[in-house]
Amino acid sequence: MRVRHTAAACTAAVLSLTLAACGGGDDTASPVPSEEVQEFPADSTMAQFADAGKIKVGTKFDQPLFGLKGLSGDPEGFDVEVAKLVAGKLGIEEDGIEFIESISKNRQDFLKNGTVDFIVATYTINAERDTEVDFAGPVVVAGQGILVKEGNPEGIEAAEDLNGKTVCSQEGSTSAKNITSMFPEATLKLLGGYAECADAMRDGTDGIVAVSTDDLILAGIAANNEGDFEVLDATFTEEPYGIGLPEGQEDFCEFVNEVIADAYENGELQKIFDETIGAVVERELEQPEPYGCDT
Ligand code: GLU
Repeated sequence: MRVRHTAAACTAAVLSLTLAACGGGDDTASPVPSEEVQEFPADSTMAQFADAGKIKVGTKFDQPLFGLKGLSGDPEGFDVEVAKLVAGKLGIEEDGIEFIESISKNRQDFLKNGTVDFIVATYTINAERDTEVDFAGPVVVAGQGILVKEGNPEGIEAAEDLNGKTVCSQEGSTSAKNITSMFPEATLKLLGGYAECADAMRDGTDGIVAVSTDDLILAGIAANNEGDFEVLDATFTEEPYGIGLPEGQEDFCEFVNEVIADAYENGELQKIFDETIGAVVERELEQPEPYGCDT
């Protein structure tokens, strides 16, 4: 179901007082000046969120550039800003967003059991996950890469060189699965997070000589530990990052895809990238082909 764009609206300041009139698809005239917002069909998923004025979003809390809990106590990064963009288009203000830490292995469960309403957490879209949850996006595409100690003491030149080495990754990630399936001679060590893997590699724990996950995540870890690590030029997969949704919300999935497309078109997404990941990785974004909501 496509949402209708209308000029009728509520200003952010009065939104909480007027949600029923503005967000619930009620066609009665809004008592406030107009600016560009959407009017949602009354029985849509979007209208439910807009009426509630709040939403629960799963994201990482330990990943530099994407979702990292800073001194403010709130997560910060690209995924967090994308979540705010989506929530904002529902008319939900920042204090209406509850960020809930979602690690790689609990993302599908969190969507299925209602712990979160949607997830933005370096979440690769793939067919296996799609049997349990749905995906809007992709928002951006990363690729699995390799982090080693500065100076590359093991002389790892290509991904195949991981065979015979101890490689650290995170449980429940595509990264861990790919290591097992693509480099069967590698010893896989699973830890709670990629930054933890990097710390273990620095300390020489359990013979870990490489950390493998998405290149953009590794770039953030390297930047946060200047002089300790380097990301090799050896990316070996494509990881299209989606926005995870519970199954059966096709209208919301279409809505999120529309938000992404608009943000590509008006430069908002590039701005978010530049202001978060862009501090470490410069990239001119091109919108990836949408995965599709009717799967
Ligand atoms: N993008 C990969 C995944 O969704 C690896 C990063 C992560 O664990 O979040 O599994």
